Order: sequence, then C-alpha cells, then structure tokens
Amino acid sequence: MPSLFIDGQWTSGSGGSAEVVNPFDASVFETVDQAGPDDVERAVAAARAAFDTGPWPGTPVGERGALLHRVADLLQRDKEEIARVETLDTGKTLVESRIDVDDVTAVFRYYAGLAGKDTGRLVDTGNPAVVSRVVHEPVGVCVLITPWNYPLLQLSWKVAPALAAGNTVVIKPSEVTPLTSVLLVRLLEEAGAPRGVVNILLGEGRTVGAPLSEHPDVDMVSFTGGLATGQAIMRAAATTVKRVAVELGGKNPNIVFADTDFETVVDNALTAVFLHAGQVCSAGTRLIVEDALHDDLVAELARRADRIRLGNGLDKDTESGPLVSAAQLAKIEDFVASARAEGARVVAGGHRPEEPGLRNGFFYRPTVIADVRRDMRVIREETFGPILTVERFTSEEEAIALGNDTEYGLSGAVWTGDAGRAERVARALRHGTVWINDFGPYFPGAEWGGFKRSGNGRELGPTGLAEYQEHKHIWHNTQPGPAGWFTGGV
Ligand code: NAD
Repeated sequence: MPSLFIDGQWTSGSGGSAEVVNPFDASVFETVDQAGPDDVERAVAAARAAFDTGPWPGTPVGERGALLHRVADLLQRDKEEIARVETLDTGKTLVESRIDVDDVTAVFRYYAGLAGKDTGRLVDTGNPAVVSRVVHEPVGVCVLITPWNYPLLQLSWKVAPALAAGNTVVIKPSEVTPLTSVLLVRLLEEAGAPRGVVNILLGEGRTVGAPLSEHPDVDMVSFTGGLATGQAIMRAAATTVKRVAVELGGKNPNIVFADTDFETVVDNALTAVFLHAGQVCSAGTRLIVEDALHDDLVAELARRADRIRLGNGLDKDTESGPLVSAAQLAKIEDFVASARAEGARVVAGGHRPEEPGLRNGFFYRPTVIADVRRDMRVIREETFGPILTVERFTSEEEAIALGNDTEYGLSGAVWTGDAGRAERVARALRHGTVWINDFGPYFPGAEWGGFKRSGNGRELGPTGLAEYQEHKHIWHNTQPGPAGWFTGGV
C-alpha cells in the first residue's frame, strides 16, 4: 500500500523509496515511499484548499471532538498491531509501546473533550453599548514535524490539538521511524477526516521538512527534535513570519538529597535514565547527589545497571532494547570515549554487549559515569542514550546551581523528605517540568515544554490547544454614531 496521503488519496509519491530498519538486528523489515518536491507542493495545496474552502474549520467543535473520540476508539481496537510496529521500528520494549498507545489514546480523548469547552471569552469594556469578545480561530495550515524516539506519541501531542482547533495539517514524521504515523493517518481517514484535512509526507528533513518549513502557504510549523534542527526551522520560518513552536532537547538534572529512601532512589534513578535506552528528551541523565549518599549510590547503581537485561523489544524478558540506529550508537560510543579521555570514571557499561544474539543490533550497555567535571562534553551536551552521569553536592544552593547549569531547560526532579526544601528547589529549577519524589510522569491535562534552549512552545493542557489558535478580538459597537474628532469642516 502506498505510504503518502495527499488530498484524501494514498499515493506513492515521486521521491523513490526508503528501507525501514529493525534496530534489534539491523534487518530491513519494510520499504516505504518517499515524497518528492511536487508531493510537497500538492500536500500544502490540499491542506490550503481544505482550510480556505473546506468544511473543517467551520465544523462545530463538538463534531470535531467526536472525530477525535472515534480515533481514540480505533487506537484501542488496533493497539496490539500498532504497539508491535512501534517496537519493530524503534526497538523499544513492547510494554513501553503499549503504554505509548494508551497515552496517545488519552491525548485524543483529552482534546476531544477540550474542543467542546473552548469558548473564548467576553471582555467587560465598561460601556454597555459595546460587546467585546475574544474568539478562538484555527491558525490555518500546520506542518507537524516529529522525531524518532516517540513517533506516535509526539505526533499525537500535535495532531490532536491542531485538529480540535480546526486546522488542516501536513505531517512529516522522522525518516528513521515513519510507520506508526502512517497507521495513525489511516485511522484518521477511517474516523472520517474530510479530504485534505490530514496529509502525510515521508522523507528526509533536508528534502521534505525544509521545504515545508519555508513554504509561503504554510501558517505554522510545530516541531519536536534536536536543537540544531529547531534553529534551522526557526530561521526558515522567519522569511514568511510563520508561527513556530519548537520542542527541543534536554540535559535533565535528577537531584537527590540524602534523606531519601535508598532503594527508592536507586530504582528510580535507573528508570529515569535507562527507559527506551535513554533516548528520551526528558531522561534523567544527570544524577546530582548529596555527598553523604554519593559513594554508596554510585556502587549500587553500577551493580544494578550491569544486570539490566538487553534484548529484542518483542521478548517479554527484555528490560531495554537497542539504540535506534547505527548513527546513534556511534554517537554514544564517542561520548563515552570523550568522558574517559577527559578523566571520568566509567563504573558500569561503557561498551557494547558481548552476547552473540545482540551483535547485529545497535545495542550499548547501560553506562554509569562518576567523577565528572562540569566542563566535560558528557555533562554539557545532550547524549540521548543509555548514559547516566553522577555529580555531587554539599548544599541546597549548590544542588540548584548544578541543576540549572545547562543551556537546556526541559525537565528535572528533586528527591527529599523535606517538603519545604522540595518546594524551594522545584521553584528554583529553570526547567519546564519538575517532579518531586518522582521522575517521568506526564499527563494530557498539564503543559509540557522547555525553558531556555529546550524550546519555545507548550504541548498538552489548554496551552497545547492555544498553540494552534489565533485569539481574535471582536469589538461590536451596538450603538454606532459619529466619533466627533474632526469637526472643523462641519
Ligand atoms: P532531528 O532534529 O534530527 O529530527 C527531527 C525531525 O526533523 C525529523 O522528522 C527530521 O526529518 C526533521 N528535520 C531534519 N532536518 C530538518 C530541516 N532542516 N528542516 C525541517 N525538518 C528537518 O531529531 P531526532 O534525532 O529525530 O530526535 C531526537 C531529538 O528530539 C532529541 O534532541 C530530543 O531531545 C528531541 N525530543 C524532544 C522532545 C520534547 O518534548 N522536547 C521530545 C522528543 C524528542
């Protein structure tokens, strides 16, 4: 079946084809179509026409919400198949992929509900003859560009609010993991999305993402991915003053005070960083530990990290899968080599696994690195892999300073039994999400996004819908008459 969906038709496109690789063993398990320049033009034109002259922007919000509810039902109907494809494509465990499908379903249901409650507001002007209203209208044609680590989840955070608000969309998933985005578009079609409202183009960032970001008929680009790509998209969008929402990387501190239960810390520190082989924008990569706990914690983390079972994401005994690609594996090997060269101590992992069954895949052992300095590359740059670094502190002020000593500001956590201290540290951290005595949970009703170079937008929550809306002020003078300014000529 063709992989591109343009103007309500599945089509092969003119950009040739590309192989999709299973990171578990580097085998090719699917071939997909690629978009050419004319497909980019056709998809934007279809979305433009569907917005300018089609029914969708004017469809009552309740009906738009009903379509999103139908998609949620279909996601649950096809949950096992979607989860299996996500695991084959990304390498993550099936358990994680199933959780992703449930989370995606919840996102669709959340925006289905919010669509009906989003009413704009009346403003009191103090003049009874004037009705002043702020109404919410869709932005227009939205391009949605997504990364490879949570292909379906990241797309849902964009497509559900964009459609709830009445926009039309052109989706450009990562070339590394395109498959579940195609499956989602099939469900949107089955749920009854009108022609041209949803379009999907597959292909590389350079050949498909970049022309979409520059296109004069596109009103908004919503992007999740790396910092350098986000900067390129912001530059490209500047020419036509498009609205841009970017969700970028993280270098997330996980701060632990010594009054926290030891087993709770060990268990959560491992989960925070090694889920999905560390390829999580909000991964707790920088563990920042109070002196008294430091040595015992490093020893126990190393012991437990060495026992993490790597394997095929489809096997139920697997605790962590491979990295997504050979390029990502090479990047992680380079980070560990640079940490060693700069004098850090690798206390667990630091190499590829030895099991013959894992030799063909893009596997790397969960790695714990101690004795780090703040100027090391492994501390400063986003690693996006199974690397946990451990720093130490003596005072609350020092913990906060370390937590904020990064160009990123996506997420962080503080662990302590002292509620006052927990609140002080949470407020002082310059990160978009802060967990207290937890790490990782998010939910559709609460905003997600970055401070500093982690981004400029917010996804989820009411603000995640507002990203896809224009807020228009309508001033209605019900008793018009002369203004009386220029009366000289009367
Ligand atoms: P990436 O920036 O390489 O690619 C992301 C997407 O952008 C892909 O679809 C790619 O094809 C496209 N792209 C590449 N060049 C482009 C260009 N010039 N113009 C337009 N589009 C272009 O990122 P990735 O490697 O796929 O994903 C990993 C990154 O995503 C990490 O930095 C991670 O932190 C970030 N991320 C952030 C969040 C968040 O919520 N803030 C969530 C997930 C991932």
